[in-house]
Amino acid sequence: MDHFGYRDSVLHCEHVPLPEIAAAVGTPVYVYSTATFRRHAQVFRDALSAVPRVHLAYAVKANPNLAVLRVLAGEGYGADVVSAGEMARALAAGMDAKDIVFSGVGKTVDELARALDAGIGQFNLELEEEGEVLGMLAVQRGTAAPAVLRVNPDVDAGTHAKISTGRRENKFGVAIDHATEMYARLAEVDGLSMRGIAIHIGSQLLDLAPLEAAYERIGRLVADLRRFGHFISRVDLGGGLGVPYKPGDAPPSPADYGAMVARVTRDWDVELMFEPGRVIAGNAGVLLTEVVWVKPGAVNPYVIVDAAMNDLARPAMYDAWHDFAAVRPTGARMTANIAGPVCESGDTFAMGRDIDHVARGDLAVFRTAGAYGAAMASTYNSRALVPQVLVDGDRFAVVADRVGAETLIAAERVPDWLR
Ligand SMILES: *Cc1c(COP(=O)(O)O)cnc(C)c1O
Repeated sequence: MDHFGYRDSVLHCEHVPLPEIAAAVGTPVYVYSTATFRRHAQVFRDALSAVPRVHLAYAVKANPNLAVLRVLAGEGYGADVVSAGEMARALAAGMDAKDIVFSGVGKTVDELARALDAGIGQFNLELEEEGEVLGMLAVQRGTAAPAVLRVNPDVDAGTHAKISTGRRENKFGVAIDHATEMYARLAEVDGLSMRGIAIHIGSQLLDLAPLEAAYERIGRLVADLRRFGHFISRVDLGGGLGVPYKPGDAPPSPADYGAMVARVTRDWDVELMFEPGRVIAGNAGVLLTEVVWVKPGAVNPYVIVDAAMNDLARPAMYDAWHDFAAVRPTGARMTANIAGPVCESGDTFAMGRDIDHVARGDLAVFRTAGAYGAAMASTYNSRALVPQVLVDGDRFAVVADRVGAETLIAAERVPDWLR
């Protein structure tokens, strides 16, 4: 459920009509609903009420805007970060370092050191050598780094290949068959305080079965590790729950997910960590855009909007579907292709889609754009970095500026020999 809806035939975010935001900020612009973020954060937490010890670490990469992090911090969420930059954001948003988990297959030595200095709560190790380096850095600082080992359970998450992370051939985690011996070696490393296991098998999962299979494997691994005398106090179950993008999508509800988790982990006796991203942020945002031209096409007309693949990369990257809706629908429909101005055929949001009839100058939105939308934006084609607006009831604020070509050019230099 989200807080975008029509009132008097005009699309609103909470109590704010979207044309008001377009007039004030211009388009394209991401518009986020505070109420939706809060609701999703609460629904996910409530879904886990049958699980005794839960730590919620919002996956910052889904939507790293500072104001968004602030809202989620207010809901009691910590953060799952994958870079020093994301860590800096989580800390700047007021999250406690202890509530931050550092994931990622390529943490640099510098990033490990900075995270140790910040006192973050958990390092999710991807390889043995990383654990040795982290331990050494911790010893130098007279401390011990709280860590878990990320395991690759070798399950097919049934999602897009580019966001599948839990198969043997993926770059993430250590093979589950080697996890026991590697854990034993890491447990001996000075400066490391090994606490348990982490997994994350992929994103936009529309079926609980692969998650359940992965969790069951982890349950057996935890039992094995304990049998070898290891102290296991945490298991990080990652994120990945899907959201509905197109008509007919039926992702598992957080409640179904929570019931599965409670059942599978009943005897684990650990603190369970969760790293939800998309399920919190996806439906909390739309990309508001204006129709630049309607260009006749060979089969269907092209609706050319002022948003492009640099603003919302998911269709170009993952063949993703985003619902397209007019801000002031007339009831008339059309079959059209929807594309942006970028000079690549990949800059196409939809082909032959049945949509609200729109004409030059009309406003429209791409829905479910709150996750992996602005987060992945670029300035390709020297387009401005897309701005972001947060709505709260009947007020709104620009929470990320439009960063235009002047600013980007100002950060570039022409060397003396070319002057
Ligand atoms: C991306 C990621 C997540 C979040 O995934 P969602 O599908 O957005 O819930 C969680 N944990 C890790 C380690 C990730 O890389």
